[in-house]
Amino acid sequence: MPERSHSYRTRAVILRRRNYSDADRILTVFTPRLGKRLLIAKGIRKTTSRKAGHLELFSHTNLLLAQARTWDIITESVTVESFLQLRADLDCISQAAYVCELIDAFTAEDDENETVWDLLLLCLRELNENATNAVKKDLLLRWFELQLLTQVGFQPELFSCLGCAEELRPGENFLHLNAGGVFCPNCGRAAQGAQPIASNVLKVLRHLSRTPWGSLRELQIGIPTALAAESVLQRYLVSVLERRLKSTDFIHRLRQVPVNRASEPNAAQRPPGAVSELPLDT
Ligand SMILES: [Zn+2]
Repeated sequence: MPERSHSYRTRAVILRRRNYSDADRILTVFTPRLGKRLLIAKGIRKTTSRKAGHLELFSHTNLLLAQARTWDIITESVTVESFLQLRADLDCISQAAYVCELIDAFTAEDDENETVWDLLLLCLRELNENATNAVKKDLLLRWFELQLLTQVGFQPELFSCLGCAEELRPGENFLHLNAGGVFCPNCGRAAQGAQPIASNVLKVLRHLSRTPWGSLRELQIGIPTALAAESVLQRYLVSVLERRLKSTDFIHRLRQVPVNRASEPNAAQRPPGAVSELPLDT
């Protein structure tokens, strides 16, 4: 068979890298048509390697790959987007790493999901363009968490009671992480392990879960509500990962290092209570 038939091209974002043997690296990448893939970059750790600059974490690249028995081999790479502003800011780097780790944790190899690909690129571009805007980046990460959960089939139930299926109303409702969402007051009081969820927090989660990012850019959320929404989503992610995926290293880091703590000083710019303008029942 001719050599060409063993090669293929794909765009990819580098999610993860680890050293392999003396000079090689194994890369975990996400692609638009092939889902997540493990690839090998041979000789990349030699100082003379011409590939090295094109295979940075988070970079969006165009790859030429040669099929191989274990990991396909990167034979050529050209950077499409390098996200330079993002790389200049430590908060942004940790936020981009968080986005990539979450996608890695929630996707399986060779499981195509072009919507997740679009979500990944959108997040990296927005982090890059808003590198110094802590408030917008917080909002972006909450939106990303909910969109990713939805895309991979683990979205929390935020609209109908998990017990009686009645539509949830503003007021007292109950969150149950292991049950996967929210109970109405009647069912929630009887459900072991359910905790009250503030009306404003539920409003924010609902709004983020069903609104495109382009319509959310100017949304302002009060600090207590934003922090509570972050806490709910972090605990929910840990609960889902523990039940389904057992990605224990990542869970440990989620628990130890809240993703946005470094950006909190700037969060004081947010007007408190701004989210109360969102209707719960629309
Ligand atoms: Zn109910």
